[in-house]
Amino acid sequence: MPEPDDQPAHVLRPATITVTAGRPAHEPDAPLNPPITMASTYVATGDLEYGRYGNPTWSAFEEVLGTLEGGRALAFASGMAAASTVLDLVGLRGGVVAPRHAYSGTVMALADLEARERLHCQLVDIADTDAVIAAINDDEDCALLWIESPTNPALELADIPALVAAAHELGVRVVVDNTFATPLLQQPLALGADIVVHSATKYLAGHSDVQLGALVVSDDEVHAALKGRRDLVGAIPGPFETWLALRGLRTLHVRLDRAQANAAEIARRLGEHPAIEEVRYPGFGAIVAAVVAGGAPAADLLAHDVRLWVHATSLGGVESTLERRRRWRAEAATIPEGLVRLSVGIEDVEDLWADLEQALAGITPRG
Ligand code: PLP
Repeated sequence: MPEPDDQPAHVLRPATITVTAGRPAHEPDAPLNPPITMASTYVATGDLEYGRYGNPTWSAFEEVLGTLEGGRALAFASGMAAASTVLDLVGLRGGVVAPRHAYSGTVMALADLEARERLHCQLVDIADTDAVIAAINDDEDCALLWIESPTNPALELADIPALVAAAHELGVRVVVDNTFATPLLQQPLALGADIVVHSATKYLAGHSDVQLGALVVSDDEVHAALKGRRDLVGAIPGPFETWLALRGLRTLHVRLDRAQANAAEIARRLGEHPAIEEVRYPGFGAIVAAVVAGGAPAADLLAHDVRLWVHATSLGGVESTLERRRRWRAEAATIPEGLVRLSVGIEDVEDLWADLEQALAGITPRG
């Protein structure tokens, strides 16, 4: 008979981790939830010392996200603060390979750094594995492969394990923006990636009421380097924002289940609608892209005529939102003018469809 200590530890499933990780110990009178610690400084000689270096509310959020992603997490003031901190690790005039259809803010940050000769960047079709590997090989100063999968808003998928293998052979670090998939649908660290980026503003927080970012890594040295950047740059989240994100994270699994089921159904029905030219849905997650027949004017009409769906940017909230992505000047010119990105929420799918149907009724069907 094996001793109890020899038995393999029971491994908690993600739905249990989202609910139980990062809580105070079960002791009499302990609160079930970590309090919001409003503190700019702490009594000296402990681990925290100063508000910019650490906060117990951040630690609770970081413990949940880190456990879900299989690494150690760091909370940031926004997804862009987290992304910029990763780009800061690239040495002067180092090379970056990134998706041409990554989130436009990420592409803009790369262009800004390139314009100031801080680094150089090659934008690639991240779904074309051979082209990505060729781009890494072409640049002997390449230091970082940036992956976003699915991409925003084109919803292309990258072959993460193949790209990681090729990049690591050349000593190139791999970062994956996992905002769309969340750790419940994809764990990049387990696929070999070095750093995971999140806009926690989206699914992790999930209620369109907080701006937050996060990084997750498995290597202690990389963790120390990124925390060092956070300490110095000060791109830190507020304790209340972090607490809101943690509260949202507790229901990620149930929100995502419902939103994903709704999205699959909406994608299927849009695919059969005569006013829609093309539907992009990667088969998981809750973002759908639909190219409306009639281009920008027709897509704008759809955004104008919806009543239940909200015409708004951003994504990942409980409420369904949509927007024509090319209304943003920064969006890639290779994204169709009539492409509408739908962030499918957790409402009743029949109500969501009825609203889309009435708004699409005014659009001339494809020929
Ligand atoms: N990454 C992705 C995929 C995004 O969609 C966004 C925002 O839309 C970001 C990063 C930036 O996040 P934030 O707005 O929290 O700075």
